[in-house]
Amino acid sequence: MNLQERDKKHLWHPLTQHKIHPDSLPITRAKGALLFDDNGKEYIDGIASWYTSIYGHCNDTILAAVQKQMQQLDQIVFAGFTHEPAVKLSEELISILPENQGKVFFSDNGSTANEVGIKMALQYHFNKGDSRNVIIAFENGFHGDTFGAMSASGLSVYNGPFEDFFIDVKRIPVPNAENIQAVIEQFQKIIAENKVAAFIYEPLVQGANAMHMFEADHLDMILQLCKENNILMIADEVMTGFGKTGKNFASEYIETQPDIISLSKALTAGFVPMAITTCTQQVYDAFLDDSVGKAFFHAHTYTANPIACSVAIAGISLLRSKEIQSNIQRIISSHQSFDEKIIAHPKVKTTRQIGVIYALDLNIEMDRYGKQRYQIFDHFMNNGVVLRPLGNTIYILPPYVITEEQLQKIYDTITSLLDTL
Ligand SMILES: *Cc1c(COP(=O)(O)O)cnc(C)c1O
Repeated sequence: MNLQERDKKHLWHPLTQHKIHPDSLPITRAKGALLFDDNGKEYIDGIASWYTSIYGHCNDTILAAVQKQMQQLDQIVFAGFTHEPAVKLSEELISILPENQGKVFFSDNGSTANEVGIKMALQYHFNKGDSRNVIIAFENGFHGDTFGAMSASGLSVYNGPFEDFFIDVKRIPVPNAENIQAVIEQFQKIIAENKVAAFIYEPLVQGANAMHMFEADHLDMILQLCKENNILMIADEVMTGFGKTGKNFASEYIETQPDIISLSKALTAGFVPMAITTCTQQVYDAFLDDSVGKAFFHAHTYTANPIACSVAIAGISLLRSKEIQSNIQRIISSHQSFDEKIIAHPKVKTTRQIGVIYALDLNIEMDRYGKQRYQIFDHFMNNGVVLRPLGNTIYILPPYVITEEQLQKIYDTITSLLDTL
């Protein structure tokens, strides 16, 4: 039996209706921007394996750091113990985050990073004797698949079975030039009528919502209201973090700094899972008390795993390097040149870009998981390019180490798709 057949015996894949799509493609190895399947066919990873492998797969610098750490200290309980990789990572991270961030709390994935952020915000008010029970979030946002994060996610495509169990989340539309005043009024109405603990948002780009982008100034108007009303701002930078938008964090484009930031995905560069929720000293101080009960009782077994921390430290050093920074600039300008060529194509409805994230909407209506989506996906795969269309949106979020030639191949494959539609 080959790998694909053995896979079907015991495995259950995410986001997969196995009755319709029983086959998964075996990938045997990866290097840089390339993935190789079990027939040796190569594919360019146009989405950095869900926005994680931004320094390239099996990056040598990170590999060396992991190997060294594995021989030194593999795992230690993080309640009551500490270690160099966690301390160093906290120092490195705080030095690149928006300057109001002061404390670092670890968990395992993007969903738990947001779960922690939401719990922190609720307990922050609780500890101050000011119980608040409502969270505000954007329509069509995505914050993860655990209950708190799922409740905050407005992208309710498949949330049906769970909706009766959600925490209380009020939703506002994503602002644009036309609706901004109405959004502000709606926000004011919600905070007048409810005890709002926090506002959670993906800054500037809604990843799962087909890379929908919006203006920093509009977001800032909402954040100003949060600040005035002591509503904690939770910036979900799980997707946008670590250079994707052209700055280290999307929050840097926005004047008002968030109280809490969620990080994962590129934090550990595709090597191992880990997540971090950072917050201000002020948030942290609300948990300091002579009573144990005011502490933050949230833990995951692998909290601050030393190996994962060593990956993240090596990742940040790469992010800071001249080489990676100039690669980011190169990708940004290549996207712009491609955009100039493709925007007039009759099959292109609109395009948008921030940093290395480029998206174009096709001039055709499609279901998010409909048949045509798979035809487009197959066109890319047959041409050796991994891109995952979201509805009628095709987007690119390449690893920063992608070569210019590989990037051009992605553009050519998109162009050839448009010509066949
Ligand atoms: C992927 C993602 C999450 C969830 O992260 P997981 O690691 O998949 O749990 C949350 N928020 C945003 C913005 C994401 O892109």
